[in-house]
Amino acid sequence: MLNLFLDILFPQHECCICRVPGKFSTRYPWCGSCQQNLVELQTCLPICQKCGKYMLEKRPLCRDCRVSSPDFAIARAVGPYEEPYRVTTKVLKFLGRRQLAVRMGDMMAEVVKSEPRFWPIDVIVPVPASQASLQQRGFNQTEVLGRQISKRLKLRMVTDALERVKETPSQRELTREEREKNLLQAFNVKDNKKIYRKNILLVDDVYTTGSTSRECTRTLLEGGAARVAVITWATGKGY
Ligand SMILES: [Zn+2]
Ligand SMILES: [Zn+2]
Repeated sequence: MLNLFLDILFPQHECCICRVPGKFSTRYPWCGSCQQNLVELQTCLPICQKCGKYMLEKRPLCRDCRVSSPDFAIARAVGPYEEPYRVTTKVLKFLGRRQLAVRMGDMMAEVVKSEPRFWPIDVIVPVPASQASLQQRGFNQTEVLGRQISKRLKLRMVTDALERVKETPSQRELTREEREKNLLQAFNVKDNKKIYRKNILLVDDVYTTGSTSRECTRTLLEGGAARVAVITWATGKGY
């Protein structure tokens, strides 16, 4: 019903990734060859068993996880942060095409469903957006992805348990150390009751250095959560 509504509201006459013309919908927002590309990229390289980052060499753990083991139980992404994944992230985030979150969220839910190390899960918590990006976009992309995952997996999502208390300027240009410093104490548990002793599925759009996921996990565990697992749409490369 909602999908039909979205399709009428936002008719799609081209593939949102390669822009080939055609008839697309909320359920099928990209073309068959882009879908094939997305699927093929999923297994293009070995991944770190802990954080899910794609690695240039086959090793059980990436350098980041070897240097300091993250507090989350597991992190996985649907695919690597390369062309088709990058384009969909940007279309969702910067062009504000929220309906893309339906298909993206479904694919994220599939990854969670098929990996036993994600379970059990009690609640879904999206990474809170900064005030600046909320004002700019009018929505939090992790929340729309989380909502779809919550629908698919029949799990509750709580959006008011975790809050961003420090405005962090764009992280893109920063080194890993700078990002970590920047994010330190950036989040706060607003309502302990909602996460206390709960197994949490944390949702983010992209895992790059992992600083955001690590910092949110630390904050949630300090706030009384039992366990945190992380799902993102795309992830970077590690060594
Ligand atoms: Zn396409
Ligand atoms: Zn790793």
